[in-house]
Amino acid sequence: MAELAPVGEPAPDSVLRRRARIGVMGGTFDPIHNGHLVAASEVQQKFDLDEVIFAPTGEPWMKKTVTEGEHRYLMTVIATAANPRFTVSRVDIDRQGPTYTIDTLRDIRRARPEADLFFITGADAVAQIMEWKDVEEVWSLAHFVAVSRPGHSLTISGLPEQGVSSLEVPALAISSTDCRDRVSGGFPVWYLVPDGVVQYIAKHHLYRSVS
Ligand code: ATP
Repeated sequence: MAELAPVGEPAPDSVLRRRARIGVMGGTFDPIHNGHLVAASEVQQKFDLDEVIFAPTGEPWMKKTVTEGEHRYLMTVIATAANPRFTVSRVDIDRQGPTYTIDTLRDIRRARPEADLFFITGADAVAQIMEWKDVEEVWSLAHFVAVSRPGHSLTISGLPEQGVSSLEVPALAISSTDCRDRVSGGFPVWYLVPDGVVQYIAKHHLYRSVS
């Protein structure tokens, strides 16, 4: 049996709880696909995260959203349901106006003040990061983890060295754009997106005529 520290003495480090470590993955998730899920799972494991919060955007400021937020939110819930460390946040889809990462991080920081935050982003998205709103404050709120993505370089200049990590993840050349194009063209998206998301897309007739 483990010995307890005598009353009045500090507990040994091993019994002190470490700070929670929470990943945040923002995206349009239109639809969520296996590239997103594999990236989040790899970062969760490599960075020993207690939880990864997926945050579907409201109105993205960088691109046009094809599908209403509620559908994208529900597809994200379905896709992440089997992983007890994955959760989905409504902070962005419930906020009025365009979604900026600074607001996502401020809201999650407010809700989880005790945690260290790790913002997960693909190589393509991180390359544009210096254009993000309030970028200096964005850095101060989370550690950034840039994951590899086929067709995009992970070598990014101009980023602060501290506060950014890069991680090679299994290369899955999947994009939401391609998934939408496949559905509208009558091609299958089985095994590119989770089974439940395939069924959700069919049931709600999503992406019949898009891109
Ligand atoms: P679209 O094709 O509509 O632009 P997308 O596939 O890039 O969408 P997003 O929802 O915009 O998907 O991506 C959310 C985050 O996931 C971004 O940081 C993006 O870089 C990252 N990501 C998307 N697909 C992959 C992938 N296949 N591998 C690694 N990261 C990815």
